[in-house]
Amino acid sequence: MPTIQSAREDFPILSRTIHDKPLIYFDNAATTQKPRAVVEKIVNGYYDVNANVHRGVHFLSQLATEAHENARKTVQGFLNARRSHEIVLTRGTTEAINLVASSFADACMSAGDEVIVSVMEHHSNIVPWQLQAARKGITLKVIPMNDRGELDMEAYRELFSERTRLVSVTHVSNVLGTVNPVKEIIGEAHRRDVPVLIDGAQAVPHIRVDVQDLDADFYAFSAHKIYGPTGIGVLYGKEEWLDRIPPYQGGGEMIATVSFEQTTFNELPYKFEAGTPDYIGSTALAEALNYVSRLGIEAIAAHEHELLQYAVKGLQSIEGIRFFGQSEKKSSVVSFLVGDIHHYDMGMLLDRLGIAVRTGHHCAQPLMQRLGIEGTVRASFAFYNTKAEVETFVESVERVLKMFDK
Ligand code: PMP
Repeated sequence: MPTIQSAREDFPILSRTIHDKPLIYFDNAATTQKPRAVVEKIVNGYYDVNANVHRGVHFLSQLATEAHENARKTVQGFLNARRSHEIVLTRGTTEAINLVASSFADACMSAGDEVIVSVMEHHSNIVPWQLQAARKGITLKVIPMNDRGELDMEAYRELFSERTRLVSVTHVSNVLGTVNPVKEIIGEAHRRDVPVLIDGAQAVPHIRVDVQDLDADFYAFSAHKIYGPTGIGVLYGKEEWLDRIPPYQGGGEMIATVSFEQTTFNELPYKFEAGTPDYIGSTALAEALNYVSRLGIEAIAAHEHELLQYAVKGLQSIEGIRFFGQSEKKSSVVSFLVGDIHHYDMGMLLDRLGIAVRTGHHCAQPLMQRLGIEGTVRASFAFYNTKAEVETFVESVERVLKMFDK
């Protein structure tokens, strides 16, 4: 049974050096590292069970199909979805949101209709709607936030109109760390018969997500941000919605019958899974979710919260530091700037000291415009990070400031 303390050893990359310094990996919001069990699942999948899934009568195809469909059930359990066919496997959060934007707009939206998003969205939850806006003449309305980085719920309520067709907001901000009150957001929308899509890319790795309890209509996340592989992710959709909206892509697997005159579509979830699925990636995703479940998401959250508080405590004595995102409810992300030091310079110099942080606009340029800045330095923690790493990080930021004579 892994524990938070011992789990670090499951991640071989964490013991490597960068520029002759021990790696301190604080870029977990961009992607997480992978435990041995996940990597082995991929390797052994290709060595032992590789065969294309579905429709194959031969032994290996059936074995691969069973593993792939079991993986879907693991995701179902992890999100507490009611039915396994409400779990659509996609390439990631981005594809999941594009799928909903495209198919939902086709089925349920026309010129003049409105989608509500928030000012803190990742570009993945803005641009797909803008593409539909250009195609269909729909409009985006934006929930503002206060200076702590919390959504203005009063303003949200006022954004609804007769033309509101969907609300699409992030569960956790990848820049501010804000944990949005999504249950309340969903409740408000449902009172007006408006469905809600939640971008869960930054939530699923850090907090327990129960799609039935939230009553989300759609919920998206990416495997690679929760210790799983790249190139696979999840769209949860309520059966009633997935039934109502048309396929996103055409190809093998998503059809029931095809003729040149007429094609009929497959049942859920295959209607949305055109082409050979990533059946090795799905099993690796399931392995990652099982790994997280063994550690316990609450234990993960508690450790990460401790790291967050420790980092803020260490950094706040630095003169001229500005934090972005000081919400009451916050996940383990610290975004900051010091004086007039460019975020890029800070990131580069921290890298020379072995510390991986992200700098820039974090794919949230409208949020940067709201904050009146070009970018931030962002440190984001995972359960395998330690207080000792945070101490080195704080000392390293101070060292960088000395280089700038601050
Ligand atoms: N939404 C949020 C909040 C994110 O942080 C990210 C990844 N940075 C995405 C969406 C997009 O995820 P992916 O690139 O895995 O599709």
